[in-house]
Amino acid sequence: VVRESGPAGAAPKAQKRRVALTHPDRIYWSDEGITKEGLADYYAQVWTRIAPFIVGRPLALLRCPSGITGQRFFQKHAWRGISKHIAQVKDPKAKDEEAMVAVNNLDGLMALVQSATLEIHPWGSTVADWDRPDTITMDLDPGEGVAWGAIIAAAEEVRQRLQDAGLAAFVKTSGGKGLHVVAPLRPKADWPTVKAFTKGLAEAMAADSPDDYVATITKSKRKGRILIDYLRNQRGMTAVAAYSTRARPGAAVSMPVAWEELDQIGPAYFTVTNTPARLDDLAHDPWEDFRTAARPLEGKARRSKA
Ligand code: ATP
Ligand code: MN
Ligand code: MN
Repeated sequence: VVRESGPAGAAPKAQKRRVALTHPDRIYWSDEGITKEGLADYYAQVWTRIAPFIVGRPLALLRCPSGITGQRFFQKHAWRGISKHIAQVKDPKAKDEEAMVAVNNLDGLMALVQSATLEIHPWGSTVADWDRPDTITMDLDPGEGVAWGAIIAAAEEVRQRLQDAGLAAFVKTSGGKGLHVVAPLRPKADWPTVKAFTKGLAEAMAADSPDDYVATITKSKRKGRILIDYLRNQRGMTAVAAYSTRARPGAAVSMPVAWEELDQIGPAYFTVTNTPARLDDLAHDPWEDFRTAARPLEGKARRSKA
């Protein structure tokens, strides 16, 4: 189930009705007039595309019961009264007994909508192999005053360095301020190995271009620079899923894009509103080969970067 994405195209709309939505008219993004039902429609339409990135993974959820302007909480565990459509999974290494949450099908995703989940944040590993990540996410966080072109250049450099290590690199907008460069892995290396590799990559970029990049989260150093945030790549950490909505003004989504597209868009260019048309118009999914491009992090890359 984990890797199955099904045929491309919209999911049958009727399916979402299997999970009842209470308060379908509740406003989540007021400027755009997007309601809970509108969010359910969005996720029904992108289901076959988002599925490979969320199914069968431990998830952290950003839940906003009153929409983006109200209270919000980052939820990492199952809760009392949780829908039966949301899978509960146990981290084999966790000391506590609390279950984490996962989705296995569209009903599960609709149950997340019903639970006011406005952002979906998966682990970089699956419940089939919690300890060996199948995804690297390099999170590029621009400091104040960094131009879009410089963020693109940073992403291209991360891509080149990943390729030099034998990995394929894909890019998505964050739906916020930056970009995420994502590399599919064959789950072979463990989390500490993958973290060491990504730390080495980020530190090498900062060492080679200290005026442009930083690899540590110290806020004061970030003005005019881009943080190469490699810390997503640790056990238990997350990055927002491709196609997830963001609980921010504008109703942007994190959108997989082609490298060549970057100079025509911005980090929050794609939204709940314009995504269905984009997907309809797209001749070719820029991330179509994402999973088949997965390679193991090999010893050579591990030794030179760790
Ligand atoms: P932006 O482009 O605006 O930086 P982003 O999604 O990359 O958007 P970050 O602040 O860089 O936002 O966070 C990167 C990832 O770290 C998030 O997508 C999320 O998965 C995780 N994260 C962020 N804040 C928290 C938090 N409070 N608790 C747990 N994980 C978080
Ligand atoms: Mn970021
Ligand atoms: Mn970050």
